[in-house]
Amino acid sequence: MAAVQDEYVLKVDGFCPVCEQDSTFAARDPWLRDHYLCLSCNSQPRERALFSVLTQLRPNWRELSIHESSPGTAASRRLQDQAPGYLASQYDPSIPWGSVHPRGWRSEDLERQTFADAKFDLVITQDVMEHVFAPDLAITEIGRTLKPGGLHICTVPIVNKEGPSVRRARRKADGTVEHLLEPSFHGNPMDPNGSLVTVDWGYDIAAYWDAVSGLSTTIFTIDDPGRGIQAEYIEVLVSRKGGLPDLTGDVAPTPVRESEFRKLARRIKHRLMH
Ligand SMILES: [Zn+2]
Repeated sequence: MAAVQDEYVLKVDGFCPVCEQDSTFAARDPWLRDHYLCLSCNSQPRERALFSVLTQLRPNWRELSIHESSPGTAASRRLQDQAPGYLASQYDPSIPWGSVHPRGWRSEDLERQTFADAKFDLVITQDVMEHVFAPDLAITEIGRTLKPGGLHICTVPIVNKEGPSVRRARRKADGTVEHLLEPSFHGNPMDPNGSLVTVDWGYDIAAYWDAVSGLSTTIFTIDDPGRGIQAEYIEVLVSRKGGLPDLTGDVAPTPVRESEFRKLARRIKHRLMH
C-alpha cells in the first residue's frame, strides 16, 4: 500500500525568517497555526511572523540584551543560539525568584520581576500574555525592565479580534482560581496539564497595555506565503518604551477678523451689482 506520509494540505517553498535559509513549509492538518511547520527548523507561522518583525525592526538583534519569558519554541532556540545577550526565564516557584535553575532558566514571576530597571533592549514573549492573571502588572514590569527605546515583541492570539477583551479566569484571595468562562488550556512545556487561558484578547489589547504601562503598542498583521507566514491569530505586537515624537513648530495664520470679512463681502457684492 502507498504511504500517506506526503499528504500535505499545504506545502510551499520559501525563505524561513527563523532559520534564515531557503526551506519548505508544510502542513498535514488544516489548522495552520499549529501544524504549518518549517521542515528545516520546525518553526510555526507565529514564530516566523515574530522573527520577520524582529529582523525588520532590530536587524542587529544578535548584539542586544534580550529577556525571553517562558521560551520553548524553535524561535526561542534560535535566539538563544545566536544572541550571547539572551536570557531565558520561566515561572518556576520551585526555586527562589531570581535564582537560576540547574537546567539554565532563571525563575521569574512576570508580574513581579527581580531584574533591575532598564536592563534589556528586547523582551520577547510568545503566547504568554493570554495566560497571566494580572496582565496590567506584567506589561508594566516588562516596560520597567526595558531600556529607553527598547521593545517588547510578542505573539498573543487576538481571538476576539474587534470585540472587547474578556477575562476568562481570576485568582481569589484564598488562593483558588475562579473560572468566569469554561476553562481553556494551551500546551505548556513546563506543565503537562497545560496553561490556563486567563484573558481572551481583542484588538483593544494595544490601547489597554498602553494605558496601564505607558508603552506604545503597534499590532503587525502579516500574510506572506514566501516566508511561510499564513495562519489565524498570528499577530505580532510591538510595544515601544519612549516618548512621543516632537512635531511642534507649526503656527496657524491669524484668522481674518469678522469686521474685515464683512467689508470684503460688501466689496464683492458691490462689484457684482455694478
Ligand atoms: Zn526554519
